[in-house]
Amino acid sequence: MDFRETDEQRALRAAVAALAAKYGHGYWVERAKRGERTDELWREAGQLGYLGVAVPERYGGGGGGITELAIVCEELAAGGCPLLLIVVSPAIAATVIAKSGTEEQRKTWLPGFADGSTRMSFAITEPDAGSNAHNITTTARRDGDGDGWRLSGRKYYISGVDETDATLVVARIEDARTGKPRPAMFIVPTDAPGYERHEISMEITSPERQYTLFFDDVKLPGDALVGGEDAGLAALFAGLNPERITVAAYATGIGRHALGKANEYARTRTVWGDPIGTHQAIAHPLAKAHVELELARLAVQRAAWAYDSDDASAAEAANIAKYAAGEAVINAVDTAVQTHGGNGMATEYGVGTLWAAARVARIAPISREMILNFVAQHSLGLPKSY
Ligand SMILES: Cc1cc2nc3c(=O)[nH]c(=O)nc-3n(C[C@H](O)[C@H](O)[C@H](O)COP(=O)(O)OP(=O)(O)OC[C@H]3O[C@@H](n4cnc5c(N)ncnc54)[C@H](O)[C@@H]3O)c2cc1C
Repeated sequence: MDFRETDEQRALRAAVAALAAKYGHGYWVERAKRGERTDELWREAGQLGYLGVAVPERYGGGGGGITELAIVCEELAAGGCPLLLIVVSPAIAATVIAKSGTEEQRKTWLPGFADGSTRMSFAITEPDAGSNAHNITTTARRDGDGDGWRLSGRKYYISGVDETDATLVVARIEDARTGKPRPAMFIVPTDAPGYERHEISMEITSPERQYTLFFDDVKLPGDALVGGEDAGLAALFAGLNPERITVAAYATGIGRHALGKANEYARTRTVWGDPIGTHQAIAHPLAKAHVELELARLAVQRAAWAYDSDDASAAEAANIAKYAAGEAVINAVDTAVQTHGGNGMATEYGVGTLWAAARVARIAPISREMILNFVAQHSLGLPKSY
């Protein structure tokens, strides 16, 4: 067993950290507060090959895995620039198309994912189908006698739709063989006639915006169906574990950023003559937050390894990593705010700005409660509770 990263992984970590430092948390906050996008950062990260690290080499990518993409996610966030769209476009959409797309779909989409010039949002959640994805009602029907489709339905909380060329939409179809409904994924251009989006007003400091989507009989070609008629549920599952792992990496990065700020503040702020870090009431919560973040980072590395190695433990490991990181980041940011006293709530100190983004990590893409349901049932063998 070797816990050291390879030389290439360490070099990637350092290079991404340098890029994040060049932009900094101030840039990210300013863009978010103005309702503007972080296009320059995305473009540069793409051109440097960081967004395409996990895309196969034959389509122009780095040929790495989710391990490398998790490093990119974590280091951008640790540098104060968490990019939510990485957990959607390179982590879900590119993985799904690389693993389950037809050769034509791979040739069309993967080169753009490799250099970041293509971005794709992902839509599974619906007003009555969040934790319970079995409830989705968005439906694609075969369009007459041709090989095309008609898509109708509604999605919500879909991130970054305004930044993306297309949305990977999970919809029900009627299985051609059995006649039974089953989920399938469609690549839907964001400018397709009948595709409408409405921004949801959110209480998060984040350059990525959230949308409700409406599909009103959207006409799609036959090749919009990912993997063609034969792609089953495996196509969808190919993207969900990478999403959990990269969200966990993103969360540990946010936690590291907040803790770094708090640590510096604890060493320099004096109230009674000595730095406040002298008080164990300040030092111990910081030490605890550090331990929890390190445990979460280990869980992320293990989950990424399991996914990249096709190990049977990947689903459980991804859930555990997501749980651990979600809890660790909330505590790390909360501790950082407390360490800063009143300054913890000021934009200038750059920790309060992370509060809501950290809090989301307990809710999305799968909530803490649904992970505990999974672990109780599948890891512990307890009866299904719902
Ligand atoms: C910032 C943000 C970005 C997002 N981006 C995307 C995106 O890009 N694409 C996308 O498809 N979705 C996205 N989502 C949606 C996200 O995946 C859902 O919010 C999440 O899956 C939870 O679903 P819900 O909000 O409908 O909560 P609900 O399912 O309504 O759950 C509400 C509460 O009840 C609990 N609960 C539900 N069922 C059970 C049960 N059986 N046992 C115990 N507790 C239970 C949940 O844990 C939760 O605490 C995003 C959400 C946010 C906040």
